[in-house]
Amino acid sequence: HAKNRGKNDFQVFHSDMAARAHKRMRMEAELRRALQAGELHLHYQPQVDVATRRIVGLEALARWDCPGLGAVPPSEFIPLAEESGMIVPLGRWVLEAACRQAAAWRAAGLLAGVDHIAVNLSARQTKDEGLMDEIRRVLAATGLPPQLLELEITEGVLMENVHANIALLHQIQQAGIHLSIDDFGTGYSSLSYLKRFPIDQLKIDRSFVQDCEGQGGAIALAVIALARSLGLRVVAEGAETAAQVEFVARAGCAVVQGFYFARPLPAGEITLLLQRGRIGD
Ligand code: C2E
Ligand code: MG
Ligand code: MG
Ligand code: MG
Repeated sequence: HAKNRGKNDFQVFHSDMAARAHKRMRMEAELRRALQAGELHLHYQPQVDVATRRIVGLEALARWDCPGLGAVPPSEFIPLAEESGMIVPLGRWVLEAACRQAAAWRAAGLLAGVDHIAVNLSARQTKDEGLMDEIRRVLAATGLPPQLLELEITEGVLMENVHANIALLHQIQQAGIHLSIDDFGTGYSSLSYLKRFPIDQLKIDRSFVQDCEGQGGAIALAVIALARSLGLRVVAEGAETAAQVEFVARAGCAVVQGFYFARPLPAGEITLLLQRGRIGD
């Protein structure tokens, strides 16, 4: 009966694959519809100065509450959008919505202490010929000063095509926009390239911050030291505990983005935090 079992295993495997393919197709169709119907929205996660508890930055993060599928996390729908090409219109929507919101906060006088609003760029977007024109159009349409926009590119994406990306990064910098390397430490940066990239900031990946008592801590320390010696700002992602915040702050990383201070929140809740001026009491 070993033979039979083998056959059944295959059938289970096959129907599992078919179910996954079906789910994926359904999700893709739903996402296309949601994008057109304006069902996506943004949350914003504060980046907090540890010493003053003031919000110094905000990262825009896409959210999708699908009527049919429930809340779908970006770790699922962003890769799907990327593979289907939908990331280009989706990314444009994110950029425009984030800049519009930032301009509204600025007009209300709420961004005095805030250095930037960060928007994530995916791999496919960095290869989009129309990206710079789109960014310029959005800045002009929303009236947001370019200095208030920060674009995040993951280390992995950046290193995929170093030469094309250096050219893009220079264009972004020349437009007055800030650049941050996301998930730093998870990719394979040739450190010598870092000097050549016109970047402003490194974001330490949350896996290292959360393992600060283990080997991740050593990597976090190394990234902080590297940022310092290159004159870059550094943000620690994903700090959930006081011990994690203290660890990176002691090591010289003044800014933390993590659940310990705040989760990604709807714009209305961010408005209240900005009005209050500080995170916590
Ligand atoms: P990311 O750009 O590295 O964003 C930070 C992620 O870490 C967010 O997950 C945030 O909720 C999460 N995070 C922050 N602090 C903590 C913490 O203390 N603990 C834990 N467990 N998580 C924390 P989110 O919003 O689920 O997004 C996941 C990823 O999806 C993002 O990682 C980014 O790569 C991608 N993404 C989200 N929105 C967009 C978008 O508009 N465009 C693009 N291209 N990618 C996006
Ligand atoms: Mg990011
Ligand atoms: Mg990150
Ligand atoms: Mg990440």
